[in-house]
Amino acid sequence: MTDSFIPISKPTIGPRERELVLAALDSGWVSSIGAYIDQFEAEFARYCGTRYALAVSNGTTGLHLALEALGLKPGDEVIVPDLTFVATANAVAYTGATPVLADIDPDHLCLDPAAVRALITPRTKAIMPVHLYGHPADMDALNEIANAHGIAVIEDAAEAHGAEYKGRRVGGLGKCGVFSFYGNKVITTGEGGMITTNDEALWQRAKRLRDHAMSPMRRYFHEDRGFNYRITNLQAALGVAQLERIDEFLNRRAEIMDWYRQVIPVADGIRLNRVKNWAKSAYWMVCLEVDAFDVTRREEFMQLLKARGIDSRPYFCAMSTMPMYRQATPPVAGRKADTGLNLPSYFEMTKADVQRIGSEVNGILKSMSLM
Ligand SMILES: *Cc1c(COP(=O)(O)O)cnc(C)c1O
Repeated sequence: MTDSFIPISKPTIGPRERELVLAALDSGWVSSIGAYIDQFEAEFARYCGTRYALAVSNGTTGLHLALEALGLKPGDEVIVPDLTFVATANAVAYTGATPVLADIDPDHLCLDPAAVRALITPRTKAIMPVHLYGHPADMDALNEIANAHGIAVIEDAAEAHGAEYKGRRVGGLGKCGVFSFYGNKVITTGEGGMITTNDEALWQRAKRLRDHAMSPMRRYFHEDRGFNYRITNLQAALGVAQLERIDEFLNRRAEIMDWYRQVIPVADGIRLNRVKNWAKSAYWMVCLEVDAFDVTRREEFMQLLKARGIDSRPYFCAMSTMPMYRQATPPVAGRKADTGLNLPSYFEMTKADVQRIGSEVNGILKSMSLM
């Protein structure tokens, strides 16, 4: 094999990232106070079109903090999609509330509003849509359900920086939004996260809880059990530099998706990302779904791809199949979890890389008599 290995994802760190991180280091403000934190929050809020943004240690703590600031407690229920990264459901469980698992739409893979409606009870306190793999959830439909019941919508936007719903950026479309800056996300701070909101009271509560809920009147007196969910100035410096380049990153992701569409023919039972006409996807992940797959055949396919120097990853597992959330699996989520996979996409990929991946994908599908 002379061709080099193509990973599923990798971060893009350039001279500007280096410059700002070194400036933060040289300033001496290496911990969780520093000018880059304020700047990152202000610029991220502006980017999302929200009044407030609060930087946190990662996306998971951001979700947990947002739910704590909303006052969730044991006995409450939060509706989350069955197909997501486990952090979505875990963040609900950390508060003592119960994650209620709803089915997803077969096209955009986000919460199915009809499934959500059927799961509302007097205990439902929030709906937490996930903009899965970069595609926004159907926010109007979900907000309508939430408004009818007086409950909150919290966007898990960890995978969808810059995605748009009907021309509006995610993060400001519900009560609050939560982003992740993990190394494989649209922009990275190494580890990091952000809560975005237009709700001043929610922002204030989250800000207080982020730093142990210390009393403003009396140092080292704590009226609540808070957390240390702070980000560092070093991470924020990286974030400021990454955010400067987000348009460039998103344009390339869309371009990569186009290249994939040119080389992998979509057919009956073979699909790439489906995008609704009301959506602009961030294309965090390139998605390939083959209806004839099951877990075993998909694994076989991914092994063959790996032997040809190309990385891939299966879709997330359905939450309902895991020991801590086990229950009957909603049909669409279960089917997608078993048949979908993600192909490589990252800023430095070339059209030739995508052509190589595409022809290997087509060749393997043919060899498995699936194309
Ligand atoms: C990455 C991710 C998170 C968690 O973010 P971390 O920064 O890794 O804690 C939460 N939800 C979804 C959907 C994610 O993809």
